[in-house]
Amino acid sequence: MKVLVVGSGGREHALAWKLANDPAATRVYVAPGSEAMTEVAERVSIEAMDLQGLADFAARESIGLTIVGPEAPLAAGIVDQFRARGLRIFGPDREGAQLEASKAFTKRLLIDAGIPTAAYGEFGESQAGEASRFARDLGFPVVVKADGLAAGKGVVICASAEEADAAIADMLVAGSFGEAGRRIVVEEFMQGEEASFMAITDGRTALPLVTSQDHKTVLDGDRGPNTGGMGAYSPAPVVTPDMHERIMATIIEPTVAALRRAGIDYRGVLYAGIMVTSDGPKVLEYNVRFGDPECQAIMMRLRSGLVELAGAAIDGRLGHVRPQWEPGTSACIVMAAEGYPGKVRSGDAIDGVDEARRMPGVQVFHGGTRCDNQGRWSTAGGRVLGVCAVGTTAAEATERAYAAASKIHWKGAHYRRDIAWRALQRERGEKKGAS
Ligand code: AMP
Repeated sequence: MKVLVVGSGGREHALAWKLANDPAATRVYVAPGSEAMTEVAERVSIEAMDLQGLADFAARESIGLTIVGPEAPLAAGIVDQFRARGLRIFGPDREGAQLEASKAFTKRLLIDAGIPTAAYGEFGESQAGEASRFARDLGFPVVVKADGLAAGKGVVICASAEEADAAIADMLVAGSFGEAGRRIVVEEFMQGEEASFMAITDGRTALPLVTSQDHKTVLDGDRGPNTGGMGAYSPAPVVTPDMHERIMATIIEPTVAALRRAGIDYRGVLYAGIMVTSDGPKVLEYNVRFGDPECQAIMMRLRSGLVELAGAAIDGRLGHVRPQWEPGTSACIVMAAEGYPGKVRSGDAIDGVDEARRMPGVQVFHGGTRCDNQGRWSTAGGRVLGVCAVGTTAAEATERAYAAASKIHWKGAHYRRDIAWRALQRERGEKKGAS
């Protein structure tokens, strides 16, 4: 079967790499992809938002499976276009993609279905005053969120009434987030540990993938501004077997049922951002595609085929597949360009990638690089590389990933040194307990 991956970042590199090693995929295409992906896939120069162009290509080339990486084409209705033309595509349709594209839609769906999530209020353009009063009623800290897609930047945690008023005014009055911030959600702040819980669904059955945890802030110790993700690892030890069962029973399965009741035919990744609170697991947000960089960490552990898994979701056969996973831990360290997550500098020459990828258990996925005609890499984006490794323990996986990252250099490169710290702390605790 010919397969197509839509997107161009580290997540899509990991998906294409996985598909390239999948005997069920005879040819792997990526649109638009990046130079780094030419090793594992054939690049097609069609942008991820050119929905018509992608559907034309898929029809012309008889693509048997298309996997969409980023949320924007899903929210714009790529799946509707493909389905209308009888093309097999993995992901929710436009209506289903609202689960990520509208926080207000998601909150309503969750509350209506009795799925645990933070208390909230929803406010439109003329309701800044009401939003401020609601924030005061909830107490501080409080969370102010742009309703729409804001590239992970539309969430402000406000410590005081002044901060909340400023965030509300910024979104509703100044329009800093454009259309995405014309409606906002004001939400109770939840205390706890976060985990990424991704499942695949065919609209009826939900099949959990291995769990993961990402690191959102730019600096060690979870300090500094938020980013698209500075690293991830799998599994997340906070999701114990008991917690796993609770998340499936109280969050994932009821969400699949609620989507179905809403008449939404959802076939794709259901990614719940979970806060494990003292009251149990609650939904922070939903995403409708694989996380980046969680996808990289998870693909490192997927032993069985992705074609079979995604195909079963599209065909409604998920109840019959059992994905196989590497038992240990995987880690992904994101190496970022100077300035990230602010304004980044591009064009810095990168050394050492080949040496890093030759190390045992290591893969390097490219998120923002360019290659010149002599094969020299340079930076071309904020999150430049995802250096990944597997190991029997979190300690081994992170040691390998950091050893590989230490071989890679460019001017201004930075990365967190504490990826998987929670898992490492638990492992040390267990060792101490055992000795
Ligand atoms: P979201 O895009 O909604 O997942 O928000 C991004 C990040 O903001 C989350 O990963 C959390 O770290 C934080 N966050 C969002 N909502 C809340 C909340 N209600 N309570 C605490 N932290 C939150």
